[in-house]
Amino acid sequence: MESTFWKRCSTCKKEIPFRASYWVCNVSTCNRANTGFAFCSVNCWDAHVPMLRHRDSWAEEARSPTPEEWARRQREAAAKQGRRGVRELGRRGR
Ligand SMILES: [Zn+2]
Ligand SMILES: [Zn+2]
Repeated sequence: MESTFWKRCSTCKKEIPFRASYWVCNVSTCNRANTGFAFCSVNCWDAHVPMLRHRDSWAEEARSPTPEEWARRQREAAAKQGRRGVRELGRRGR
């Protein structure tokens, strides 16, 4: 499964390519791994602000990973989840 882009913009769903600049929200809850908001432009970030009612927020420029980096991170995340899944199953059985 190989994707040609990194993620979709959280607002307009436009593709954000690898090794490109994108924008993130400075609010910490918007930056958690499981939230992971990413925006293709400041305008898209701007549209996200009223939705979550941020009071004091700004956009920060970031760079998307390379395909290799991203694949490695996905593998690590999957490995972590796999281990947790096994443990939980074991606990439930007893
Ligand atoms: Zn966008
Ligand atoms: Zn935000």
